[in-house]
Amino acid sequence: MKKKQFKAESKKLLDLMIHSIYTNKEISIRELISNASDALDKAYFNSLTKKEMKIKKEDLKIQIFLDKDKKTITIKDNGCGMNKEELENNLGTIAESGSSLFKSQNQDENISIIGQFGVGFYSAFMIANKVTVKSKPYGSKEAYLWESEGNDGYIIEECKKKDYGTEIILTMKEDEEDEVYSDYLEEYKIRSIIKKYSNYIKYPIEMEVTKKELKEGSKEEYEEKTEMETLNSMIPIWKKKKSEVTDEEYDNFYTSTFYDYEKPFQVIDSHVEGLTEYDALLFIPSHSPFDLYTKDYKKGLQLYSNGVLIQEHCEELLPDHYSFVKGIVDSKDLPLNISRETLQQNKIIERIASNVEKKITSELKKLLENDREKYETFYRNFGLALKLGIYQSYGMKKDALQDLLLFTSSKTMKFKTLNEYEYLDKQDKIYYVVGETNDKINLMPQVEAMKEKGYDILYLTDDIDEFVMNMMHEYNGKHFENILSSKLDIETEEEKKELEKINEEKKNLISTMKETLKNVVKDVKFTTSLSNHPVCLASEGQISAGMEKVLNTLPNGEKVKAEEVLMINAKHPIVKKLEGLKKEELEKYAKVLYNQARLIEGLSLDNPSEITDIICELLAK
Ligand code: ADP
Repeated sequence: MKKKQFKAESKKLLDLMIHSIYTNKEISIRELISNASDALDKAYFNSLTKKEMKIKKEDLKIQIFLDKDKKTITIKDNGCGMNKEELENNLGTIAESGSSLFKSQNQDENISIIGQFGVGFYSAFMIANKVTVKSKPYGSKEAYLWESEGNDGYIIEECKKKDYGTEIILTMKEDEEDEVYSDYLEEYKIRSIIKKYSNYIKYPIEMEVTKKELKEGSKEEYEEKTEMETLNSMIPIWKKKKSEVTDEEYDNFYTSTFYDYEKPFQVIDSHVEGLTEYDALLFIPSHSPFDLYTKDYKKGLQLYSNGVLIQEHCEELLPDHYSFVKGIVDSKDLPLNISRETLQQNKIIERIASNVEKKITSELKKLLENDREKYETFYRNFGLALKLGIYQSYGMKKDALQDLLLFTSSKTMKFKTLNEYEYLDKQDKIYYVVGETNDKINLMPQVEAMKEKGYDILYLTDDIDEFVMNMMHEYNGKHFENILSSKLDIETEEEKKELEKINEEKKNLISTMKETLKNVVKDVKFTTSLSNHPVCLASEGQISAGMEKVLNTLPNGEKVKAEEVLMINAKHPIVKKLEGLKKEELEKYAKVLYNQARLIEGLSLDNPSEITDIICELLAK
């Protein structure tokens, strides 16, 4: 029979598997067991909707047989099985998920990480030189065999198989110097792999074991007997209390269930009794998924009804601001055949979701109080999600989330909660400033001046930050105020008087400049709180210069413009120069100064060629 060839991508992955430098080859067994468990789930789930399928949950199981003579491990399940097309499609090519993963992995040649993902079936070739799959779907009369020795392709042909389900026969590789494949044919080895990785699979994983027993009627003569022994505990890990589970067990469960290469950052368990009973096991990942803030990201928790998976990503269980949380909710109060539509309006789901949200919030607060360093690591990873939560809920989540926010403080250059913000005597505002990085903010003219006066300033460096501040308005009755606001009121009485005088004296100067810049700024003012710098921009009204910048980079967003005020440092030598200028010259200077202030803010210039021409003209004088 002519062998069929694997699709190109499958071939590459297969190559990697066969020649894998990945040392943890045990995971191939884990992957096959997980596939079998999925197949049992599918069979049971289908039986709920199809009357002709009569499946009893207690009959579903996975069985392992070891044959040292033939050097084979057989993993058998009585799950959904595969027909000819399914064998071809599922095993001749790599499933969508696997292949995209493979692509991204292959880019950085990071082969060693492969084994930790759910590349599944193909990992069998890490320990076997031949893989044979026999399968018979429920209700079918025909069974088919798929067989491959790796890279040279595969065959599919009809075969005999008594029971429904799938049987995978691995013919083990020959032992090598540093890899003893025959170990996998030992009971103790399989026993330990199952305990380590598959202990919580909810179906029995039975293995045929050989035991020595006294011969009947004899006192010293032994005979060997084989019997099936269940190797796994089967109580799902999420039903156990945290104290009953080791870190290693959680780590293994998390990495294999949620396909993460890093162990979880924090484990949260919750066992609720009463009106709605459920068990939840939640994980905060150690790193933020690269697509977390894109439309491609699928949030949600796995939803189980009394141990049976009914939905892989139940979105309704997680609020958007906790979409990075992974985990499982299992409730026996939910009907098994619940549909997507009814799920959305389901009161039980609503109640669980609200509890889950509260639980995550309270765990985060505890972490913030008890382990600041760890919390800050968490915040660096997921703080943006919390801020988005406040913004996207139009402030409705403010009360729940505001105390979880952190901002760098000018006083300590470390993270502070809003509650830790320091006020000067009689200060009734919380001051903040927006910029690209803390370093750039430190160089801003207004910041320098405010710091000299002893104010604490929160540094906002995420695009979303100022929008969040606007949404929150205030904290404990203190309003948030951008220090670039033209209404910033921090001058002393003395300074105010001095300013009034200056503004009065230089009325004509100001009015010419205002007239020149009337299309771009609302006002031109002198200030005394800009230590050494000549100019800056302040904003009047709702939209600050920082917000203008963010809003104008949004695709399809309408272009907006902040109401700006050009602030000129009354103590700067440039003022003298301005006073001596003719009207025509002054107009040019005004334009240059205004655009200079825009540059300091990191804003783009409306008409760069005009400005550079003027600068050159002035330089050439
Ligand atoms: P994944 O499990 O990530 O989808 P795999 O390569 O492990 O990828 O498996 C590919 C597909 O083959 C599975 O999605 C499933 O449809 C099918 N499959 C694998 N093992 C079995 C099995 N024991 N019974 C039924 N179908 C199976």
